[in-house]
Amino acid sequence: MELFDKCSLISEPYRLPSRLFSINPVGIGSHLSESLTSFIGRLANAHCVHVGILMAEEIAPIMGKDYLRKIVNRGGKGYSDCAVGFNGIDTGAVDCVAAINHLTGRKDLKYLTLLALSNLFPTRGLLRSTRAWCPVCYCEWHLNNQVIYEPLIWYVKEVEVCFMHLVPLVSNCPNSKCDHPQPILNRYTRPGYCFKCGEWLGLEYKILELDSNHHFTIWQLFKSYCIGELIEYSSNKDEIIVDIPNQLRAYVRQITNGNVAAFARIANIPKVTFWDWYAGKNLPTLGGLLNICFCLGITLVQFLLDPPKPIIHQSINSSFIQRNGKRPRQRSSFDKSAVEQYLVSVLDSDTEPAPSMLRVANRLGYHRKQLYKYFPKLCRDISLRYQKYVKQQRKMRIDNTSLEVDEAIRRIINSGRYPTRKVVESEINKPGALKEMQIRAAWRKSLQNNGIH
Ligand SMILES: [Zn+2]
Ligand SMILES: [Zn+2]
Repeated sequence: MELFDKCSLISEPYRLPSRLFSINPVGIGSHLSESLTSFIGRLANAHCVHVGILMAEEIAPIMGKDYLRKIVNRGGKGYSDCAVGFNGIDTGAVDCVAAINHLTGRKDLKYLTLLALSNLFPTRGLLRSTRAWCPVCYCEWHLNNQVIYEPLIWYVKEVEVCFMHLVPLVSNCPNSKCDHPQPILNRYTRPGYCFKCGEWLGLEYKILELDSNHHFTIWQLFKSYCIGELIEYSSNKDEIIVDIPNQLRAYVRQITNGNVAAFARIANIPKVTFWDWYAGKNLPTLGGLLNICFCLGITLVQFLLDPPKPIIHQSINSSFIQRNGKRPRQRSSFDKSAVEQYLVSVLDSDTEPAPSMLRVANRLGYHRKQLYKYFPKLCRDISLRYQKYVKQQRKMRIDNTSLEVDEAIRRIINSGRYPTRKVVESEINKPGALKEMQIRAAWRKSLQNNGIH
């Protein structure tokens, strides 16, 4: 009787089973924290269904938005448009987090969005409307057998460069026949792969062979670093509250003795716009705040901390500010004959690796579209040569690895072991290598050749 009484008093917390798998988000607490749309893609994958099914049958009904249900059922562009905000700071993100938290029994999915920053920035211009990614990050995770996902930082519009690999983010499918931009979320979205043709979006650094001097500016690198730091800082925080006008006033006092117009000039922001921020009428955009931080030589997180950081006058970024206070402009006049000459010389040269049109455009300091407009044939030829080069490299890599697999299988059989995928991968010291379709096919063929079925 005594024992029974004791048992009945033990109150075990009862945990309701979740409807969907409670997969772990990647990287919470780091600058590479996962995004909510990436989590949705991986969740669908874990349940062996397309994102479209998961959205239509599980997530949209719980979010209870009629318009969303209709869009999800219809598919198409509206689908991606309504998903743009899922990683952001608005009600779309709040509702989506609540729905997936409910379905998975998790409580931490808020940290896969920018919701903690909702008091700091306006929505306008904060997020991208299509996906962008670092192909080298994908490649590295694949080679290290890590989870393939999309970090939140890739969705922030101001982020143009991966500051881990110092390469520009990419936004079109690398398959030359496809070249499709990637919607934020689509019925067939899968992190790491093109939604349209299924092409792998990763690329080896040596294939990109990017020249850091020509491919991004210090300004772009600064923005990526600051936003990464901000994501890390805000991770695990429910809300960041900072009186931004107060911070601005403190820096204006410090740098220009309270002269607002002079400060706006130094920060290269129109006086009226800056005045509205200073007076608290409008919130500064993320780009605007980054601009101010760059000029002051501090990071965004440093700007948000109270009390304001004392600025050493010499650290004000004079390289960014011309004498007249204007940011150096992009080259505006188009030197047609010099550009043509350069494009012809690129085509004539046999340098390996062949440069991509993006690289050529960056070297010249013009946009790719502008070059295509004036010299469509030359640009197409350069692009085709680059695609041919990438394909050759890929083929060479696959051929070499297939050969390694074949030799490894023979060694493994001779040592009396069975050449499973894992054993072969470990023998050639390339974890995850057999995830690639062609390498797996080579493994199967070699097994057959060795009499194993
Ligand atoms: Zn990267
Ligand atoms: Zn594609």
